[in-house]
Amino acid sequence: MRPTECPREQDVMDAIASGRWPHRCDAELHAHVEACDLCSDLAEVVVPIRDDFEQTLYEARVPTAGATWWRAQVRARLEAREAASRPIRAVTAVALACSTGLLAAVLTLAWPWMRTWLWAQGIDAPVLPDPSGVIALLAGRGLPLAIGAALIALAAPVALILALSERRH
Ligand SMILES: [Zn+2]
Repeated sequence: MRPTECPREQDVMDAIASGRWPHRCDAELHAHVEACDLCSDLAEVVVPIRDDFEQTLYEARVPTAGATWWRAQVRARLEAREAASRPIRAVTAVALACSTGLLAAVLTLAWPWMRTWLWAQGIDAPVLPDPSGVIALLAGRGLPLAIGAALIALAAPVALILALSERRH
């Protein structure tokens, strides 16, 4: 009948796990493993598992600490740039919308004089719809328009300051 326990079993396991088995063990342990069925079976089964594990560790390519740090830095910089450009894009869009509206208003108001000047140059420019309706509307809503313009004028620098302070983080 095969033994189920051996007092040297732990010694053999320790020797295999630490890599001392089979070349850096004393002759006494070798003699025991040869004589003991349990310990010889143990060595036969565990040594290939240990060798396989060591081979896996050897082949695993772990990126160096420097490469990992560099990648983290690049990612952080890209994220910061993206976060900073978002408010700037919003401010640019608002400024563009405001200046387009202003240009349209100026052109509409100045069109009668421009048309007269063009007529004098011999160019027959088309008549725009009468802008007096638009002017009356602007005059009637003077206060809300002034408040809106003031809000935009205040919001633009605030958004710019927020965008610049975000970049410093
Ligand atoms: Zn044994």
